[in-house]
Amino acid sequence: MIRTTLQQAAAWCGAVRLLTGAEAGETELAGVSTDTRTLAPGQLFVPLAGERFDGHDHLAAAEAAGAAASLWQADRAAPRTKLPLIVVDDTLAALQKLSAAYAEALGARVVGVTGSNGKTTTKDLIASVLGTAYRVAKTEGNFNNHIGLPLTILRASEDTEILVLEMGMSGRGEISLLTRIARPDAAVITNIGESHLLHLGSRRNIARAKLEIAEGLKDGGTLIYNGDEPLLAEELAAAPLPEGRNGLTFGERESCAVRLGDAWLTEEGCRFRTADDPEFVYELHVPGRHNATNALAAIAVGRLFGLPAERIAEGLRAAKLTGMRIERTAAWNGALVLNDAYNASPTSVRAAIELVGGLRRPGGRKYLVLGDMRELGPDEAAFHAEIGRSIGPDKADVLLAYGPLSAHTVREAAKALAPGCALHFEDKKALIADLLARLKPEDLVLVKASRGMKLEEAVFALQKGA
Ligand code: ATP
Ligand code: MG
Repeated sequence: MIRTTLQQAAAWCGAVRLLTGAEAGETELAGVSTDTRTLAPGQLFVPLAGERFDGHDHLAAAEAAGAAASLWQADRAAPRTKLPLIVVDDTLAALQKLSAAYAEALGARVVGVTGSNGKTTTKDLIASVLGTAYRVAKTEGNFNNHIGLPLTILRASEDTEILVLEMGMSGRGEISLLTRIARPDAAVITNIGESHLLHLGSRRNIARAKLEIAEGLKDGGTLIYNGDEPLLAEELAAAPLPEGRNGLTFGERESCAVRLGDAWLTEEGCRFRTADDPEFVYELHVPGRHNATNALAAIAVGRLFGLPAERIAEGLRAAKLTGMRIERTAAWNGALVLNDAYNASPTSVRAAIELVGGLRRPGGRKYLVLGDMRELGPDEAAFHAEIGRSIGPDKADVLLAYGPLSAHTVREAAKALAPGCALHFEDKKALIADLLARLKPEDLVLVKASRGMKLEEAVFALQKGA
């Protein structure tokens, strides 16, 4: 984590002034915290103002928890405190400046990861690959926004050689901000889907928003992007990368620089080759062809950082993913449960259906348990219907769906599935009860929905058997 003096931190934050005794400039700061409940002694407290809360109200708690100093926004009345204060125009902007300056002072190389789906997965794969040869710090979980990314950088230890940072967004300009803070040497765009369509209006606008990641690329840096997505190629043709930056593609198309060769998919994961190296087999303990594609991005990054295929393969084999991304778990009766309940969008649901379609369950049935996909904008009903049309007996035996929009999914899937095998539920508990009653030990269940649907409750119920 960041270790510096009050004086240095103030300079990095662009402080207006310091409110402190003259000797306090040498005060040592060890880390930052925005939350007094988890603040550790010696940290710099960063009070952020949100819609429902204002960190400035908690200065006394920060002091009691042992903060070494605090940021303070200039428009707030001067508080009564013994803590040295670094006064800034805006505490959030100051946090971001501080992290940008620390990233530069660290001198670590930076990998930024954005895209509609698979950011966290690809970030974890890249960190695992690079971790075989370098000291790597990465985004924990999904800490990928304008607050999480600065905090991630500030948490990195001084001996970090590579920072792997996830960059999330819900509108234009957000990735631009993050990439300008992080200044990546390599920037990855996993894919373009339909998440945030509600805010952005079109897939092209989503592509443009993701391409903002190139704005922060360092001179000599590389944009590694999904070569199967025509929108990215089109947008890059219309607005080429800045001078001195390179582009590199991964995917399944012939033109991709890192291209998927043979692939063997199983319940446990996948094994695959890249087209340019037909001798070498990579192995991934995460199922799904889309994860093989995510791994291609990690291979591209690994190669860029000079790693041989053996090292890259070692990193992919060892990769552990953040929870609820096709997490394999078992039901009370031994049935296989694939917990993908973390989130859902049309692209990721299609990927999940393909995954289930590719698995064999001799003597058992394959269940898709799907919940609504949210934030898709005016075409949300059509997106759900389209997912329904893609579900046939070649993919799964039974569809159980929950939420108002999922009625469209069920209506369409019912046309292809056997009678009584596409069921819609308004009530999650009723869906869970139905599933518990049906499930046999030989069966397989995949659970997926938007975060707000909290469909992991179905997974927990399956694990307990109640
Ligand atoms: P968020 O925007 O919530 O941070 P994310 O982009 O970080 O999401 P992950 O958490 O890695 O994405 O994966 C979320 C889900 O997306 C996974 O469970 C999986 O179903 C799906 N997914 C992952 N990679 C891909 C991909 N390349 N193509 C389509 N779907 C994918
Ligand atoms: Mg994520």
